[in-house]
Amino acid sequence: MVPRVVFGNGCFDQLGDILLSQRKHSDAPFIFLVDDVFEGKELSARIPRIFNDQLIFISADQEPRTSQVDALVEKIKNDFDELPSGIVGIGGGTLLDLSKAVAIMLTNNGSASQYQGWDLVSKPSIYHAGIPTISGTGAEVSRTTVLLGPEKKLGINSDFTTFDQVLLDPDLTEGVDKKQWFYTGMDCYIHCIESLKGTYLNAFSQSYGEKALELCKEVFLDDLSAEESRDKLMMASWHGGMSIAYSQVGVAHAMSYGLGFLLGVRHGIGNCLVFQHLEEFYPEGVAVFKKMQQKHNIKLPTGICANLDETEFETMISVAMGMVPLWENALGKEWRNIITPEKLEAIYRKI
Ligand code: NAD
Ligand code: ZN
Repeated sequence: MVPRVVFGNGCFDQLGDILLSQRKHSDAPFIFLVDDVFEGKELSARIPRIFNDQLIFISADQEPRTSQVDALVEKIKNDFDELPSGIVGIGGGTLLDLSKAVAIMLTNNGSASQYQGWDLVSKPSIYHAGIPTISGTGAEVSRTTVLLGPEKKLGINSDFTTFDQVLLDPDLTEGVDKKQWFYTGMDCYIHCIESLKGTYLNAFSQSYGEKALELCKEVFLDDLSAEESRDKLMMASWHGGMSIAYSQVGVAHAMSYGLGFLLGVRHGIGNCLVFQHLEEFYPEGVAVFKKMQQKHNIKLPTGICANLDETEFETMISVAMGMVPLWENALGKEWRNIITPEKLEAIYRKI
């Protein structure tokens, strides 16, 4: 679990004080990895840089890759004689995951791709803090960092991945585009449904999942004020992440990984594209999803898989079916009796 968290509008301004106690000395900088959507914006000017701290703007147009993590680690090692005091990630799931991975790879040898999997990291990462600017993924609280590698899209899941500090300032999510707000918010909603309907469910996951689901319904179905909506979605994301920490996601995520790997379809929208066709597995969840979609007038793109050939379908299916824990959670140990390549191809063809 994340050991330290602050919450509240304007709490971003506590960052300087929080980092001060973590500074090793004046030559060990903090590296701020920031979504380039904030370049030239007020938030960048509020980043508490002192001594030789470095600010690196990074585009979130593509989801994080292992090669990108390796390049950032090399740059930081070249720029400084010693390890930084820490890494601070400011942005959505993309920047949060990149920051977690860089913090790990600054102390572990080789390429980030060697650590994609479960508990392969042997040395503790350096201090890292996460500051979400869009709500839904739960990346701020999870023990994984999802990376696209040369062979697979898979997280570095480890006890050293989790942030040491998280700062939840709902004001930072103010400028998010409406569609992106919906897609990333639905990531949280789908986390809740997949966790609560899964066979791995337990009291820990259920307690967080139910609260997150309740908050998602308020945000996406009620008429909250903008401020209330931002506050609640930020906490929904946190609770949704906590819920899957002790269980797993399910069918939509497994199939969305296939879309992401082959076509570069991003996580939030990829989950929505799959989830809309999963009535068979999550009937109530899909019905409520469609209500939310209608209320916010969100039309999902169509024809994404229209021109794919058999080999491409096979690639997506093989990536999706490789996500064994997700299928086990969704459908139990005998999931292979229910899920066949033909069945997955039929769903992909609808997208
Ligand atoms: P994102 O970080 O990819 O950002 C989506 C878009 O929103 C980008 O264009 C970004 O620039 C923009 N944006 C972010 N904050 C903004 C703001 N305040 N104002 C204006 N624009 C803003 O989006 P995401 O959905 O949060 O993250 C997706 C990533 O998270 C994927 O890479 C996925 O694999 C990962 N993920 C990780 C976990 C985990 O547990 N580690 C869980 C789910 C998803
Ligand atoms: Zn997700």
